[in-house]
Amino acid sequence: MSKSINITLDGPGGSGKTTIAKAIAKDLNYIYVDTGGMYRGVAWFIDSRDIDATDEQGVLGVLPELSLDIKVVDGEQHVFVNGQDVSGQIRTPKMSQCASIISTYKDVRLKLVSMQREIARSVNSVFDGRDMGSYVLPFAEYKFYLTADIDERAKRRYLELKDKGQDVSLGDVKQDMIERDERDSSRAFAPLVIPTGAFVIDTTNLTIEEVKNIILNKIGKLNKD
Ligand code: C5P
Repeated sequence: MSKSINITLDGPGGSGKTTIAKAIAKDLNYIYVDTGGMYRGVAWFIDSRDIDATDEQGVLGVLPELSLDIKVVDGEQHVFVNGQDVSGQIRTPKMSQCASIISTYKDVRLKLVSMQREIARSVNSVFDGRDMGSYVLPFAEYKFYLTADIDERAKRRYLELKDKGQDVSLGDVKQDMIERDERDSSRAFAPLVIPTGAFVIDTTNLTIEEVKNIILNKIGKLNKD
């Protein structure tokens, strides 16, 4: 069997990673892996056990009882916690904050990193996350880092949450993002950084199509018809 090809897209929330990664995976017929969804799955599990995310010993104590799984259902990644599909419950501001806190714990990360590396070994994949090109798959064939101005990123996330019917304010969404950016970038183990060798794209003033074309061009798969 030939070696699988991996593409990593890292960057802060609202930079466009998820939208772009999904579109690229669809175009190339690769598997799309939303690694943030995996951390959100752990967050959901911790919350369901009434453990405070800041209680590291409490979190690590129940980690062996967690069986996390991701499956593609109707073309979308679904997250399963001990067999239960929790995908509809993990995209809330509460889960965002909880995921950001538990993702600072090394043992939580290592559990997910081994799952991510296993997927990367077995299939051609596009991963979106925070440490995919820097820590999990430093030798990935193609690495990208997406970013955008904080106001633009907050606006995108705000519209996305509103669209899902959630009662949020733009100010709160922005504040939440600033806190998560700070925590993700300053954690000791596998922080959010621009991976060595990654191509950086500022998506502030670009359309989805433009960002997608930049990436496909870089990897030499743009259909030029
Ligand atoms: O991308 P998303 O907002 O769903 O990620 C939720 C949180 O999971 C991030 O704020 C980050 O703390 C954590 N995360 C991470 N490493 C990844 C993906 C996500 O630490 N590869």
